[in-house]
Amino acid sequence: MEIKNQNKKHTEEFKKRRSDYNKSYYEKTKCSLICYHKRAIEINARKKINKYKCECGSFIRKASKTPHLNSKKHKKYIESKKNIQQI
Ligand SMILES: [Zn+2]
Repeated sequence: MEIKNQNKKHTEEFKKRRSDYNKSYYEKTKCSLICYHKRAIEINARKKINKYKCECGSFIRKASKTPHLNSKKHKKYIESKKNIQQI
């Protein structure tokens, strides 16, 4: 009976150690996930800084402003705006 109890105690300790190990592994993984998430948010924020919303509703980069002003979508918007003003 005593031996059995000791074995049980042993097993429980082993289980506890295992779960502790799993927990720390989980914490590590969680941290790296959060770090990854943070980085993704930072990158997105930087992208947003470089982009701005045009009056036609599309997001464009400052560098591609001129080609966008000549794009079909933008011209269509300008045309429709003109039409509305004429009415
Ligand atoms: Zn536009």
